[in-house]
Amino acid sequence: AIAELVKNQTPLAQWPAEFFQVEDNIRRKDKLLGSELQPGEALRAALSKPPEALVEEVKASNLRGRGGAGFTTGLKWEACRNAPGEAHYVVCNADEGEPGTFKDRVLLTSYADKVFEGMTLCGYAIGAKLGMLYLRGEYRYLLDPLNEILQRRRNANLLGSGILGKAGFDFDIEIHLGAGAYICGEESALIESLEGKRGNPRNRPPFPVTHGYLQQPTVVNNVETFAATTLIALHGGAWYQAIGTEKSAGTKLLSVSGDCERPGIYEYPFGVTVAQVLEDCGARDTQAAQVSGPSGVCISSAEFGRRIAFEDIPTAGAFMVFDQSRDMFEVARNFAHFFAHESCGFCTPCRVGTSLQSNLMDKLHNGHGSPYDFEEIKKLNQLLLSMSHCGLGHTACNPVLDTIAKFPAAYEKRLQHKDFTPAFNLDWALG
Ligand code: SF4
Repeated sequence: AIAELVKNQTPLAQWPAEFFQVEDNIRRKDKLLGSELQPGEALRAALSKPPEALVEEVKASNLRGRGGAGFTTGLKWEACRNAPGEAHYVVCNADEGEPGTFKDRVLLTSYADKVFEGMTLCGYAIGAKLGMLYLRGEYRYLLDPLNEILQRRRNANLLGSGILGKAGFDFDIEIHLGAGAYICGEESALIESLEGKRGNPRNRPPFPVTHGYLQQPTVVNNVETFAATTLIALHGGAWYQAIGTEKSAGTKLLSVSGDCERPGIYEYPFGVTVAQVLEDCGARDTQAAQVSGPSGVCISSAEFGRRIAFEDIPTAGAFMVFDQSRDMFEVARNFAHFFAHESCGFCTPCRVGTSLQSNLMDKLHNGHGSPYDFEEIKKLNQLLLSMSHCGLGHTACNPVLDTIAKFPAAYEKRLQHKDFTPAFNLDWALG
């Protein structure tokens, strides 16, 4: 049914309501982010101490950003707090555009109070008066419910002036809608978009913590990161730091989809193996798992003992399962199309390079490929790595190179056609 709607280009507003209902349950018994928290509970705990103490707790927790890059949240808050400026800002990145990721949607659907409370905690910590939630355009249907929750929080004095009776602590939150550009999930492009400009990534440094929204000190964190800070404010940094692994404290939400019996959102302490996730979601006969979306890493069955953690496989949350019936060449071709479509076009290497890669994959698909095309893809990767302006270009060849290395047979069979003798093999790619 969805394929029909897409094919007919039916506007989202006319899609049946059931397509927008997501399971609000976060699976696993040891869940933290999916646990109950009364609105204001974490905020009351934090406001009993000075803002510096909250920053110290977040630092002690070793919480790292859940958007993928993994920068230490406490250090980011501290740097922003200490940066001079006319005003400080809090931005929540809810532009969840990575294919295969939908955990922020569930947090915003079922645990939005936690997210807004985390933003308010950040406002207190860095001395901001305004927070902005940048909501993915495709999640527009969440706008009204989220605004209602914000109003409820204002009525309860959890937003506004003198929050919970704390003189001088004034903070409010606005929601801004994106317009469907994948690149606006990159924090500096997101800030440009918030300022009303085209969403091009900025040159860095300077970083948003010193020169962010309107060139003022700004903290940009992911939805899941803000939700996690409520637990830290409530239970303390040491408590949080004890969960997970040495370099990856706390839990991680995974958006599990694909060839499995129980797709959905799973919450695990960091360090869980790929094999454990596959078992829990009921995956059978699995060929590969694509972790962290197209820009992430393709894990073959020989690597299922690897762990989800910043030390091994870092991820923003996508976990796509492919069983033996899937053609991994076609998976990579689909991702190549995605990057060509989502390249923002700001810099030539990425704008042209991603299209060339996509064309080369189509050429192989159509049975007109040769070993020369593989060399071209390799060269394109070097070009994109060294010349692209942002991470999209840097990672655009990952899915193709990963699958060439791990599933060479899927590519070699594309060379078995009348124009070419099949003596060629892809050993060079494995070297
Ligand atoms: Fe845009 Fe791609 Fe250049 Fe990034 S690398 S700025 S997405 S064209």
